[in-house]
Amino acid sequence: MKLWADFHTHTRYSHGRGTIRDNVEAAVRKGLKVVGISEHGPANIGMGPGLDDFKKMKEEIESLREEYNNITILLGCEANVISLDGKLDIPERVLDELDYVMVGLHPLVWTKTFKDGYHIFFENFIARCLQQFKPKIMEQNTRALINAIKNYRVHIITHPGLHLPIDTAALAEAAAGCRTAMEINAGHGYMTEEYVKIAKSYGVKFAIGSDAHSPEEVGELKRGIEIALKAGLSELDVINAGRNQEESLWRKTSGL
Ligand SMILES: [Zn+2]
Ligand SMILES: [Zn+2]
Repeated sequence: MKLWADFHTHTRYSHGRGTIRDNVEAAVRKGLKVVGISEHGPANIGMGPGLDDFKKMKEEIESLREEYNNITILLGCEANVISLDGKLDIPERVLDELDYVMVGLHPLVWTKTFKDGYHIFFENFIARCLQQFKPKIMEQNTRALINAIKNYRVHIITHPGLHLPIDTAALAEAAAGCRTAMEINAGHGYMTEEYVKIAKSYGVKFAIGSDAHSPEEVGELKRGIEIALKAGLSELDVINAGRNQEESLWRKTSGL
């Protein structure tokens, strides 16, 4: 399986180690045709960039595009879901300026209300110790993500199930309906082929992402490819693989 893009990379704008230029250069070295800069939204406690930073990133990318004509540089995001009704921490007017939108469920975020914080942070924390909480938080976490992809134009759900458990089948069914891809995260060591198999049975598309937090990790997608192949995916199932390379097809496949 040949991948031509990495949509999931972080920089110093949040808690990554490199600059946007560093990530672009790393992607060129790895032979990628497209690299996406996907910073967290501002609600991540202690790391999220401010909303104004998205404007700065856009300006920086626009000038880098003039320098690097052998790679497409996209500006995306990894927005946080900050309420059970699926609100994101990046307003629509900012999302509209981006090339693509990814959303992820993270435990340490400033939530919309105290009650949402109780459900998203506190109950998930409790469920790590008390198994009887697990079905309740799985349903809540899944509901929050499904509401987010119904409320907004979301291209990719990042690392489903990392830290915060989800119901893969329910999420995949909703994601397929919204034409939102689910990530096969190559960076965190938790993903299983079983997750991919269940999600695939609902006809959802996938994106393999590195979740790079340093330039060396940009385009490190091998582990994701291994999981995809073990789960029986073909290049047609993965929006950043193979023949989906033609931009028009990728845009169509990913709902852009
Ligand atoms: Zn994340
Ligand atoms: Zn990330």
